[in-house]
Amino acid sequence: MQLERILHSQGFGSRKICRSMIRHGEVAVNGEVCDFPFTEFDPEHLVFTVRGETWTYREKAYLMLNKPAHYECSHKPQHHPSIFSLLPAPLLERGVQSIGRLDEDTTGLLLLSDDGQFIHRMSSPKWKVPKVYEVTTKHPLDETQVTSLLSGVQLLDEPAPVAALSAKIVGDHVLHLTLAEGKYHQVKRMLAAVSNRVEALKRIRIGSLDLPEDLAPGAWRWLDAAMLAAVA
Ligand code: URA
Repeated sequence: MQLERILHSQGFGSRKICRSMIRHGEVAVNGEVCDFPFTEFDPEHLVFTVRGETWTYREKAYLMLNKPAHYECSHKPQHHPSIFSLLPAPLLERGVQSIGRLDEDTTGLLLLSDDGQFIHRMSSPKWKVPKVYEVTTKHPLDETQVTSLLSGVQLLDEPAPVAALSAKIVGDHVLHLTLAEGKYHQVKRMLAAVSNRVEALKRIRIGSLDLPEDLAPGAWRWLDAAMLAAVA
């Protein structure tokens, strides 16, 4: 594939902009400046540098973000900055979207991609991959609440009771709650239904993919093949 097309596909702007960057010597491939936009490369695993930043060619983008509190999962946020402001420009240009949403005050594991089919499949209600939330509650937790969460609680506007797949008390005020679906404010509404209240909410696992301990709030990381298999 021509270098100009490669850069364009990776979100570095229109083909005209990419051509101009290449001609100005701003692009290196495998460590060497390439200033001819129509040079052919095999894009698979290609490592290239644009204005000093190194990238690897990816046909589709799959990534995880450790969402910080007080960011909105929207391109048009209303009260707080957008999570998309935490990503580099080429990923936005590629049309990376979040897979589902977390509330403004929820933190933790969020997946993003520009693969429309993948986003569609993962966002479908049929996609029952378990998601684990670490819930910090206002009132102490007890086994009665856990039993209700596991057997199902009635939420307003839901036709049937909603049950957790698993609920484990891990501290007086801390619960690990596993859900198979992602209804609006589901964790907060389920805890309210057992007369408790969510003080802090963090998603710590999707499928068998854990939020990495060394991924700081606000930081993102590419998903490798094993990570992708763990969530799909
Ligand atoms: N449940 C909630 O209440 N909020 C989230 O952000 C995610 C799940």
